[in-house]
Amino acid sequence: MDYRQHLMIKPGTKAKLADIDPGFHGHHESHEKAMPELAAALDEISGLQELLYAEKKHALLIVLQGIDAAGKDGVCWHVIRAMNPQGTRVTGFKQPSAEERAHDFLWRIHKQVPGRGGVGVFNRSHYEDVLVVRVHDLAPKSVWERRYDAINAFEKGLTHAGVTVLKFFLYISKEEQLERFKRRLDDPARRWKISEADYAERERWDDYVAAYEAMLSNCSTDHAPWYVLPSNHKWFRNLAASQIILETMKDMHLKAPEPTVDIDEIRKKYHQAEKEG
Ligand code: AMP
Ligand code: MG
Repeated sequence: MDYRQHLMIKPGTKAKLADIDPGFHGHHESHEKAMPELAAALDEISGLQELLYAEKKHALLIVLQGIDAAGKDGVCWHVIRAMNPQGTRVTGFKQPSAEERAHDFLWRIHKQVPGRGGVGVFNRSHYEDVLVVRVHDLAPKSVWERRYDAINAFEKGLTHAGVTVLKFFLYISKEEQLERFKRRLDDPARRWKISEADYAERERWDDYVAAYEAMLSNCSTDHAPWYVLPSNHKWFRNLAASQIILETMKDMHLKAPEPTVDIDEIRKKYHQAEKEG
């Protein structure tokens, strides 16, 4: 199943979140029924990541954005556990430090982009600079407005350098968010995740929706499209993410590199002798 066409924001179109159902789960009926497909996708991703690491021709950058409790941490964990930690890295972006703020907004981002052979997952990203910054007026409009073009140019440069950029916007409903906050309060093991700031951010839901829609409309490009993952159902979110990652990796036509040594020669020299000796 290839969800890419269905979940992609077509470049050049205006994204309207009200038209997207965050509870969508495709033709899959339930978590239980989707499990074999999910396991198979992760298995294939595993094999392809090994090839990507060995071949060292491509890099994969997965960018995750979404409102609090949308499941960014969950997708990181889910996707990354299919991969060999050697060759993968997750980077979370928090409020910029004084040093980071003294530089252009892409400075701290660029350093974390994976090199050829690597897979990187961004838990929040350069898009915060047109999201939280826009919603909270952390910079004047004249500053954040120019960033959409800067981001498109930056991502285009990455693709020219062999980095495939996959961007997932995790979309949950306002009701589902409240439900998740409540479950966090009720769960002693996960209470640490909740803060009053989360409720304060929730008050700005509509402003965030406007900022997300602008991000999706302005920055879904042919070289780095945005995918909206309906995320009310965690299992569907994980399934859609895995399948899009898998299809994207298949399109890279990854191949194990040719050996740099003469295999027959080595076999003759060492293994023949072993037998005789
Ligand atoms: P969390 O992901 O829950 O650990 O929170 C990280 C916090 O850092 C969020 O509130 C983000 O909005 C904030 N943050 C990330 N990047 C930026 C940025 N460029 N400017 C301001 N705040 C940011
Ligand atoms: Mg948070």
